[in-house]
Amino acid sequence: TTFQVSCRAVPLAQGPGALVVFEDVTHLEQAVQMRRDFVANVSHELRTPLTALMGFIETLKGPARDDPAARERFLNIMESEAGRMNRLVGDLLSLSRVEQDERVRPTERLDLGELVDSTVHGLAPLAAEAGVLVKTDLPEPFEMTGDSDQLRQVLTNLVENAIKYSGRGSDVVIRLSVPGYEPKVRGEGVTLEVRDSGPGIDPIHLPRLTERFYRVDNHRSREKGGTGLGLAIVKHIVTRHRGRLQVDSTLGKGSVFKVILPV
Ligand code: ADP
Repeated sequence: TTFQVSCRAVPLAQGPGALVVFEDVTHLEQAVQMRRDFVANVSHELRTPLTALMGFIETLKGPARDDPAARERFLNIMESEAGRMNRLVGDLLSLSRVEQDERVRPTERLDLGELVDSTVHGLAPLAAEAGVLVKTDLPEPFEMTGDSDQLRQVLTNLVENAIKYSGRGSDVVIRLSVPGYEPKVRGEGVTLEVRDSGPGIDPIHLPRLTERFYRVDNHRSREKGGTGLGLAIVKHIVTRHRGRLQVDSTLGKGSVFKVILPV
């Protein structure tokens, strides 16, 4: 193991001599390095669609100027690249907001059953477009303390992933188990589960899944319009609620993302 050590001399308040202080700053160095990597990643992620946009603008100003079919095709690609940048900036803002809130405990009273129900309702058009059937299994109203916007975002990110990585014709099941509603989870808190029958995730990827910009399959994620930040945002929000995120997945069978929150 290598340690980074800072060393400084502090003069004594009385008399001659000095106190020499050695401090382990390994964690600080790591934090600085992570920040550097993050900025490099963000720049790269933004530059890719930007380069494409600039290329198409040049083509539209030149060779494709008088070709309506080519113009139409290029404008559609440009729209999708601009959409990608927009999603990325939106997720970056969410991430920074969530990071800022992390030390403040949420205090809002909310009905989790109702929140899940309305969030799933809002995602119906996306599911319909992808040809995925979203089913819910929700208990009676369930009151708890939390941040409703953030919990909505957790569910949205998990369900959007389940929809986009599953194939047409498959099911996504959302289950909410609250203490007392199901004996199995009594005392453990409330469990929000998103289950899909998509491609599944190789276990070697699971420990890194919530890292920023970590993607199991880079090409597939980009093709599906992913920013690589969704699960990082989920992790921060769940931590703020003092809960935990558990992922069980089998290659070729599907994945289950569980958010377990204390109540
Ligand atoms: P992305 O925007 O790429 O989806 P996320 O942070 O939401 O980023 O997810 C990280 C990676 O985890 C994804 O790129 C994908 O490879 C994998 N992943 C997430 N959810 C699922 C799922 N339901 N099924 C299969 N793979 C998933």
